[in-house]
Amino acid sequence: MNATTLLKHFLFVVLCSLFVSFSSVNAQQAKYVFFFIGDGMGINHVAATEAYLASQHNQNGFQKLIFSGFPSTGFANNHAENRLITGSAAAGTALATGFKTTVNTISMDGTRTKALTSIATQAKANGFKVGIISSVSINHATPAVFYANQPLRTNYYPISLDLMKSNFDFFGGGGFNQPFGKNNDQPSAYLLAEKAGYTITSSIEAFNNLKPGTEKVIAVGPIIDAAAAIRFSIDQTDEDIPLNAFVDKAIELLDNEKGFFMMVEEGKIDWAAHANDGATVIQNVISLSEAVQQALDFYKKYPDETLIVVTADHETGGFSIGWAGKHYETDLNLLALQKKSKQSFTAILDSALKVPENNNFKFAMSLVNQYFGLGGNTGLTLSDYEISLFKEAWNTMSGTSAFTDEEQYLRYGGDNPISSTATRVLNNKAGLGWTTWSHTAMPVPVFAKGQGQELFSGYYDITDIPKKIRVAMGLSASE
Ligand SMILES: [Zn+2]
Repeated sequence: MNATTLLKHFLFVVLCSLFVSFSSVNAQQAKYVFFFIGDGMGINHVAATEAYLASQHNQNGFQKLIFSGFPSTGFANNHAENRLITGSAAAGTALATGFKTTVNTISMDGTRTKALTSIATQAKANGFKVGIISSVSINHATPAVFYANQPLRTNYYPISLDLMKSNFDFFGGGGFNQPFGKNNDQPSAYLLAEKAGYTITSSIEAFNNLKPGTEKVIAVGPIIDAAAAIRFSIDQTDEDIPLNAFVDKAIELLDNEKGFFMMVEEGKIDWAAHANDGATVIQNVISLSEAVQQALDFYKKYPDETLIVVTADHETGGFSIGWAGKHYETDLNLLALQKKSKQSFTAILDSALKVPENNNFKFAMSLVNQYFGLGGNTGLTLSDYEISLFKEAWNTMSGTSAFTDEEQYLRYGGDNPISSTATRVLNNKAGLGWTTWSHTAMPVPVFAKGQGQELFSGYYDITDIPKKIRVAMGLSASE
């Protein structure tokens, strides 16, 4: 070998090693993964929120949310194994494991005999820290599919026991639904979780005092409803912990050299959409956007190692911007007149009408004026037709209506007739329409930013979403 050959050989080796180090940079994996699920959030819920925000600035158009401007977007179909219109358990199982299953099944196959492995369980086994956050109860279908394997979503207590066995590092948001079991005869799920090594907080102070180094946390919102969910965003005050604060805390506790996987569900978009309550849907979509902002702030520190995916399990409500009675017009800013969620308003109405002298149509309508800005001397003018809707609702409540059960269901969806009419009239005046009290089979949107974002563009099935996340994280395909 002469000197020139030696030099050529040396240069060749240097170039090769440079190439190898460059390509390993290109093959970098997502070490910090945020998986946001807006339960029930169709592209229509996103667009209505954007149009509402624009209307607040007297603008015609759409003001982008944090995630709707993400560089990679897709659509996903979501049918269940045994039904075209899916539910949160089957769609959640698809999102968590990459497999289709039957409705109401929690991360098991369609026959409910074989357990399926979620990406969260897989991430934990591969050394990532794992956080699971939900604005509804932490043992509700969507969070459950990431840590539990149960034949039925209503197995709340067995799901709670699966949660403790998961050893996941952080749970936050709502508490345990049915903590003493279906029949209220089991030891408290909270006590059992403590015995399993979890630190449980349920006050703002204890939550704020959680510091890195606290292993295994269950941070429950200080105010939770009967189903152990945190309150609707529209009903929250400084006494609540909002969704973005849970994400912020989870980042603080989970940040570590080996990375983390975090699933964050905004579950009350679905609940508000089941109620056809547009103003409440919009405030919860805004909360989801604010939670994604926390992930985006973290992304800015580690852009090559962070992946943020925002999607939904299904669309709820058959929600539309546009309603027959308004033709081509909208007045979305009118939704700002609504002061409480439909659910909270029903509670206010129920307790007010228990006072005998208030149990009359006029008083009910004074509350509709106060909380929805409709009617009376100060509210939006009600047409004769709209007044007749309220009168029929009142008659239905007092048992003097001639409506069949079918007509009552179509009108009020099983909710309080006055509350349903108030939300329906305000939504329609704003130019929003609803076609169902249930889910629809519309495809859901997917938004991605960060390491592996390009994997998420296209039109595919929601079972592909966890497969794409696995590729981005460098995890093996699950059996
Ligand atoms: Zn639902």
